[in-house]
This record gives sequence, structure tokens and C-alpha cells, in this order.
Amino acid sequence: MEICLMLHGLGPPPPHVAADEAAYWLTTETFARVLDLVRQTHNHVRITFDDGNVTDARIALPALREAGLSAAFFIPSDRIGETGYLSEGDIRELRAAGMEIGSHGCAHIRWPQVPSEVVAEDVTRSIARLSSILGEKIETAAVPFGDCNLRVLRVLRTLGMRRVYTSFRGPSRDGAWLVRRDCLTAGMSQARIRELITKTYTAVDGAISFLRMWRHAGPASNWPAT
Ligand SMILES: [Zn+2]
Repeated sequence: MEICLMLHGLGPPPPHVAADEAAYWLTTETFARVLDLVRQTHNHVRITFDDGNVTDARIALPALREAGLSAAFFIPSDRIGETGYLSEGDIRELRAAGMEIGSHGCAHIRWPQVPSEVVAEDVTRSIARLSSILGEKIETAAVPFGDCNLRVLRVLRTLGMRRVYTSFRGPSRDGAWLVRRDCLTAGMSQARIRELITKTYTAVDGAISFLRMWRHAGPASNWPAT
């Protein structure tokens, strides 16, 4: 099974970050502990960053390099180059260092609240922007706010997304199309973070995560094929 962690900004949140969003920023000390745990555990752990904060390149990248780890970065393309967010050069640097770059839409909107055509346009335009920066296909996406439903997932499937990262909690089957993620927050205890990363997950944990997702997103038989 695969454990996927969802992180956002690192270090002190800058003034433009709203209080509710600041709750998702981790201290650099916490991030260093996360990397140590990921290196030590026998679990298969994947690290992801959402929102394209500039700390992805300034803080996460050097720490990941030093730890010999890689991560995936999901970037809302309308924010590229804005104050506090990644520039085109930063995105190229992340990719050149072996990091995965994926779509997080353009404007960071809630996809279930807009028509399918708007979801498709938001994803397509963001992929086009990232592809033009990197000169390669973008085939993964993370759902803004973790807010998705079957209609949104079908759109993502139709657009050819190879993997979709959600905010449903718990471990996923290795290589699953729909990836569950555990969000790390500023208020989370060290013990909880350690547990998320190092716990020995069983088939029961996988089943519980699956059922929790089923309750939220509807019958699995309606999901896009994995
Ligand atoms: Zn986001």
C-alpha cells in the first residue's frame, strides 16, 4: 500500500496567506522530522505539495535533495509568477531535480460547484500552461480543496489524467488511479505525524479508507476505472 502525504507552505506563513490557510503551513523543523520519518519507515510514502507556494522551491527542494527524496508538486497555474508563488524558472528547477509537476487547476476553484465544461477548461488550460513551461506532458492532477465528486472524476479521466490525488484520508493501493492523501497541518501532534508515516497498514486499514471514500463519493462501481 502507498501512503501519500499532502503538504502546503513551509516556514512562517507570509502576510498574504489567510488565517485558515496558514493552519496548513508546517515549520521547517516539522518538515525535517517528516523527511527523517519517511527515510526511516519501511512504508512506501509519497510526499506531495499543493498550491504552488514559493517555499516549494526555496525550502522543500533543498531539503528533499539533501534527504535524497522526491515529491510531487501541484500548481494552480494562474498563480505562477505572483508574489509568494513559484515562477516558471522555479517550476523548471523542481522538474530538473526529478520532482513530479501536476495540475491543481488554474484559479483554485471548487470543481463540484461549476459545470463540467468549466472543470474541463480549468484543467486543460492549467495543463497547457505547465506543459509549455516544461516541454512535456502533464498527466497528474490534485483536486483543489480535495473537493470532488464522480462527475469531476469522470472529467479528469476523460482528459487523460494518469493519476488523481484527492484529500480522502488513508492509504491507497500501489499505483491506484485515485490516490488518497493524509494532510499534515500545523496543529498536528508529532505523535500523530509519526503514526501516519510509520504505522503498519493492514488490509483492514485499506478497506476502511475505501469505505470512507465510498460514503463520500458514491458507489465504487461508478468510479472511473483504475
Ligand atoms: Zn489547493
